[in-house]
Amino acid sequence: MSEQHLTSILQEERVFPPSADFAAAARIGSAEAYQALCDEASADPEAFWARLAREKLDWFTPFETTLKWEPPFAEWFVEGRINAAYNCLDRHLSTSRKNKAAIIWEGEPGETRIYTYQTLHHEVCRFANVLKKLGVGTGDRVALYLPMIPELAIAMLACARIGATHSIIFGGFSAEAMRDRIDDAQAKLVVTATGGWRRGQVIPLKQMVDEAIDGLACVKEVVVVERTPNAVQMEPGRDHWWHDIIDSVSADCPAEPLPAEHPLYILYTSGTTGKPKGVVHSTAGYLLGATYTSELVFDLKDTDTYWCTADIGWVTGHSYVIYGILANGATTVMYEGAPNFPNPDRFWQIIDRYKVNIFYTAPTAIRAFIKWGEKWPLRHDLSSLRLLGTVGEPINPEAWIWYHTLIGKKRCPIVDTWWQTETGAMMIAPVPGVTPTKPGTATRPLPGIDVAVVDKDGQPVAKGQGGYLVVRQPWPSMLRTVYGDPTRYEQQYWSRYPGIYFTGDGARQDADGYFWIMGRVDDVLNISGHRLGTMEVESALVSHPAVAEAAVVGRPDEIRGGGHCGLCDPRR
Ligand code: AMP
Repeated sequence: MSEQHLTSILQEERVFPPSADFAAAARIGSAEAYQALCDEASADPEAFWARLAREKLDWFTPFETTLKWEPPFAEWFVEGRINAAYNCLDRHLSTSRKNKAAIIWEGEPGETRIYTYQTLHHEVCRFANVLKKLGVGTGDRVALYLPMIPELAIAMLACARIGATHSIIFGGFSAEAMRDRIDDAQAKLVVTATGGWRRGQVIPLKQMVDEAIDGLACVKEVVVVERTPNAVQMEPGRDHWWHDIIDSVSADCPAEPLPAEHPLYILYTSGTTGKPKGVVHSTAGYLLGATYTSELVFDLKDTDTYWCTADIGWVTGHSYVIYGILANGATTVMYEGAPNFPNPDRFWQIIDRYKVNIFYTAPTAIRAFIKWGEKWPLRHDLSSLRLLGTVGEPINPEAWIWYHTLIGKKRCPIVDTWWQTETGAMMIAPVPGVTPTKPGTATRPLPGIDVAVVDKDGQPVAKGQGGYLVVRQPWPSMLRTVYGDPTRYEQQYWSRYPGIYFTGDGARQDADGYFWIMGRVDDVLNISGHRLGTMEVESALVSHPAVAEAAVVGRPDEIRGGGHCGLCDPRR
């Protein structure tokens, strides 16, 4: 890609303001309220974040210093002590949310499980005690390789409760990719399942864990959820059935008051070299970002049933299936399987059945629905929906209009949200009661977020001109480092423009100040809304005995977007 100019070819003139009805009921529904928030944030960003941190989160010990910034290393809410699981669960138990559904889960075969805040709390405390019993303590790493079942949410919150750092590995990753991640994090314990359901087939997760940890000295214990009927081998002394061991512990497990900067999780993301980067997120800053943006961008209210279709194995699932949504005391829907099982109307059926109000998915899924045909959504009552969202890649205008018309029935604002694993939370997105949207742009940065498009020397480019997307000020949910490799953290994100975060994306701003993302400018492909490094794909190819050399280049794909390269997500 040319260093000097990035040329943008997309021109989109249509503008969709929120309806008067939506604006009237929205948390932020007037230009004045929105402007007041923007003014507060730009006048004194630290004071703005400090106010939000005090209002939106519950603390065991209050913080005094909002930000300690020694570029590129940030510490937020320095002296504070906090617990993410406490904020997602315990604080709701003394309110009317106690018996409200926290998680509504549907398995691919069709069964349903509903956890209230109280029952979820109970299960999380029990699993936290299981972790303790198996020797896991504050600061240890726990790897989770699970399908989209409630035990995944329970395990992650149990880790958060005792201060163990979780590293969730997407169930579609191979045993080899899993091994690299477990080894890099030096995880002590792995939680998995016998298998997961995908389009009626069993994905043999436990078997892959056995392969991945073979000879890995760090892993001492494995906990296995019995999800599918396939036989698995249980290694005596190392492997434990979830259903057995959970019965041997009490449900009494107070949340650990952890330092604000305690690493809540590591999530691996692709880089330009073969080795994945372990993005490290903090407890307080991350939780604030996820909580604040969930409320603001989804206009989340207590009466909402909210559904994000992302797998928890990706950052979207961390922030917007679990942490940000439960911290707000909302109801989150979780679905285990494929969107087209047994038929391509599964998503619309779920929306109809649970009367989902807010629906968040990826452009790649929308394009698949377009291909499958409008008869599928037309079979279902989607009138409960009031807000739609997208994430993962730029949404092409055709998909946007289809989503707006067929799913949103021209009533629902669409929030196109730009963010990354590294940013922890949404950065550029509309505030739905206020911001007029245009198909294909995530619109403006959220209050408190300072992004810009710059040239190769770091100078802002003129409106309409392409350049590199950067973030000029630290923000609470920013990644803190690359696990075990602070040098890589500095080089990857902060070396191009010292003191300024480089996103790796190209972008341009239009005359209204809206940001149009033009894709990655590094050696990374965006496939089905997920980043994969070309090097990683190449190393997967050459690991086959018949392949001596491999070179991977992106080519556009109608469904999977920008960089499809002949590979597909094994879970789709
Ligand atoms: P990941 O952290 O793996 O989820 O990938 C983040 C990358 O996905 C970003 O750097 C963008 O290239 C792309 N991306 C995510 N959301 C959007 C969006 N709403 N519009 C355009 N690109 C996006």
